[in-house]
Amino acid sequence: MILNFAIFLGTLIAMEGVGFLAHKYVMHGWGWFLHRSHHEEHLGAFETNDIYLLALGLVAVGLIVLGNSGHDPLQWVGAGVAAFGLIYILVHDGVVHRHWPVRPKPRNRYLKRLYHAHLMHHAVKGRRNSVSFGFLYAPSVPILKKQLRDMRDAERAASRQQSRADLCNPSITSDLQNG
Ligand SMILES: [Zn+2]
Ligand SMILES: [Zn+2]
Repeated sequence: MILNFAIFLGTLIAMEGVGFLAHKYVMHGWGWFLHRSHHEEHLGAFETNDIYLLALGLVAVGLIVLGNSGHDPLQWVGAGVAAFGLIYILVHDGVVHRHWPVRPKPRNRYLKRLYHAHLMHHAVKGRRNSVSFGFLYAPSVPILKKQLRDMRDAERAASRQQSRADLCNPSITSDLQNG
């Protein structure tokens, strides 16, 4: 029993890492076409981003079914995945985005920290240069602000370098002179 609970808890914690990586490299990478709906204003109750949640649900159910048909302890791994999904729905959809008729407010310090960190994730428009991709763990607001500043500075330096490179490029320079 204790071992099963440890597997459940371990999976729940590991899912934060899986979620962080999936959000940063898949959802803000090649999977942006599905996640994009979540970063734009929308009116409906559902968004294409919910497909990720559906996939998570299928993985959890699949693991629980496998575990119950003799592949112990996969049902406890499945339960950990399901618990992560439920907490995510409660906190992300309920407390942060307030998609429901009942709108719980973030009252304790931990929930407030998650709330502000996720709002900062949404403060960046578009796919690139965002912060706070995790969910159950969130860095403090000052740290996130610094990350945003550093990224903007790096972006500006890169574009300055690019325009300098364009000026040094003879074909562009001659185009400019001819035009
Ligand atoms: Zn995102
Ligand atoms: Zn969100």
